Order: sequence, then C-alpha cells, then structure tokens
Amino acid sequence: MSKPEVNKDLCIGCGTCEALCPTVFAMEDGKSKVVSEECGDCDCQEAVDNCPVNAISIVE
Ligand code: SF4
Repeated sequence: MSKPEVNKDLCIGCGTCEALCPTVFAMEDGKSKVVSEECGDCDCQEAVDNCPVNAISIVE
C-alpha cells in the first residue's frame, strides 16, 4: 500500500493538495498534513504532480 507524505519544511501551505484530495490532506497551522493514509478516490499522484514545491512524495 502506498502512503503519501508531506515534507513540512518544503510545504508553503498553498492548499492545492487539500483541494485535490481532501480525504488525505488537510491544512493545519498553514501546512499540509496527511490525515488519512487511505485514499479511495485517487492514488494522490495528481497531488504529487501539482504541488508547486514538490513537497509530497508517495512511499511504498
Ligand atoms: S500542494 Fe504542496 S505546498 Fe501546497 S499545501 Fe500541499 S504540500 Fe503544501
């Protein structure tokens, strides 16, 4: 099972990942936080691809 991770040092809090996949990402204190490792709607690759600072990675 792949699992998304956010590098909070890189995240600029733009909210794109939350907009694309609110099941997995939520904003907290101006940064994105992974709130669920399971995403039934997508594989979060779109969030990875659209993060402007490449802060999201998928770990196997
Ligand atoms: S898309 Fe990237 S920079 Fe924007 S909130 Fe998500 S992790 Fe942070």
